[in-house]
Amino acid sequence: LDAIRTLADIPAAQAKKRGNAVAVKFGVRETSFAELDARSNRVANALIASGVASGDRVSVLTKNHDAWYPLFFGTARARACLAPINCRLAPGEVAFILGDAAPKLLFVGEDFFETALAAVAGLDNKPRLIALYGAHPAFEPFDAWLADAPATPPADAPRLADDVLQLYTSGTTGRPKGVVLANKNYRRFLEMATEVDGFAYGEDETVMIVMPLFHVAGTNVSFSGLAQGGRLVLVKDFSAADAIRMMSEERVAHAFLAPAMIQMMLQQPEAEAGDYSALRSIAYGASPIAQDVLRRARATFGCDFVQFYGMTESSGGGSYLSPAAHDLPGKLTSCGKPWPQTEMAILDGEGRPLADGEIGEIAIRGDIVMKEYWNRAEATADTVVEGWLRTGDVGYRDADGFYFVHDRIKDMIVSGGENVYPAEVESAIMGCPGVADVAVIGVPDDKWGEAVKALIVPAAGASVEPAAVIAWARERIAAYKAPKSVEIIDALPRNPSGKVLRRELRAPYWEGRERAVG
Ligand code: ATP
Ligand code: MG
Repeated sequence: LDAIRTLADIPAAQAKKRGNAVAVKFGVRETSFAELDARSNRVANALIASGVASGDRVSVLTKNHDAWYPLFFGTARARACLAPINCRLAPGEVAFILGDAAPKLLFVGEDFFETALAAVAGLDNKPRLIALYGAHPAFEPFDAWLADAPATPPADAPRLADDVLQLYTSGTTGRPKGVVLANKNYRRFLEMATEVDGFAYGEDETVMIVMPLFHVAGTNVSFSGLAQGGRLVLVKDFSAADAIRMMSEERVAHAFLAPAMIQMMLQQPEAEAGDYSALRSIAYGASPIAQDVLRRARATFGCDFVQFYGMTESSGGGSYLSPAAHDLPGKLTSCGKPWPQTEMAILDGEGRPLADGEIGEIAIRGDIVMKEYWNRAEATADTVVEGWLRTGDVGYRDADGFYFVHDRIKDMIVSGGENVYPAEVESAIMGCPGVADVAVIGVPDDKWGEAVKALIVPAAGASVEPAAVIAWARERIAAYKAPKSVEIIDALPRNPSGKVLRRELRAPYWEGRERAVG
């Protein structure tokens, strides 16, 4: 990693060492490090020729696609900042992000031409529209745009202070916020990657990318893989059956999976029969995992498991639960210890540190903490206080220095004066026979203020009795945490990071009322 100072250095550093090795495989197409390096330089030169200067934003709206990588590295090489857009958003939401980021150019994948056109229609500053792949009369073809650009690197090299990636948060609790990450944030990330299980890969090892490239897990696992000379196998659309097949056929060594993906994979009959002989580690995180899912996953895949806790605002970093710590008594429900050169603390409402065992807001400090929220000085000042990133998550640290994340402050249920964390209740219910998926929310209640409610998706062909779920929960967790009511639903609303949108589930129950929390 010595040759890699900023993310933009990754393709050239690997190309110099082993240019013919495969960097990215997407479908049947393979791109070598030498090709990735040359194409990234061409993108950088084409951007500069298009008037893109240091500090400018460039956006991309696409499903996972191998064209993403030269676009990202080229943008970074041009000292500009890529602001990817969640492709599942509606045109109005895309318009909001385009208005916020004000990109000079917008690269669009073929499935999203109409979305992009609808989104730019009302904008004052319209970006130049380029078809990343596929064709549409209103979009310049990528190859034509790139045609005259040379493959030599531009003269002006990126600086550590340059903004490199503007990632919008997952939008779980509200409107996505643009998190500005600079090269210096990622410098710490890259230094850390070789030291932490789950991000430390061997040369030529295959890393499966299923997390979307518009959120921090997808980008970071890609950067870590490429920086260490791994081979990325990129997946356009996640499907549980395909992911299992790919793990066997591509001899996948490492993968980052959201708990919801693991849960879906375990529901596939083929999961048991997969060939996981090349598999070394599965990293998981981005949302809480149910203990039953984790137990079954460890038994099925038989590899190391590493949990990551973090967020966009901390360059995806924070804490991790190492493979060895998964076997320590009482630590399986922990999100582990801070990354190297990263501090964590539990703070009270006034920002004062709390003692071990006391419950408060988790905070993170270190070079991985974002530069700012784009266009939101006030929100930045509220969120990063004296270098401490307030995460909005509740938790505690035990006497051994392990952190435990209960849930988001905004999702906490206050019932009869007791705090109930939905994730804990969900984890208890997940093991109940016939339950395929579950979300727990607080609903208004005259007696308790809020009452715990479980929304259950039954397994295929199974029927679930509400009373049985309540009884199951009461045997495992305190009575006040067990649901007072249970409703059966078809599916849970989740965003592309696999996070349950509890605010959407809550909304119909709270119409016209204010929640005390959140
Ligand atoms: P928004 O900020 O727009 O509401 P978001 O917080 O979901 O969206 P991200 O930055 O992608 O956007 O997610 C970070 C959050 O994900 C954390 O604050 C935490 O609530 C949750 N999370 C991440 N890792 C874990 C984990 N290992 N266990 C439990 N929760 C996690
Ligand atoms: Mg958040």
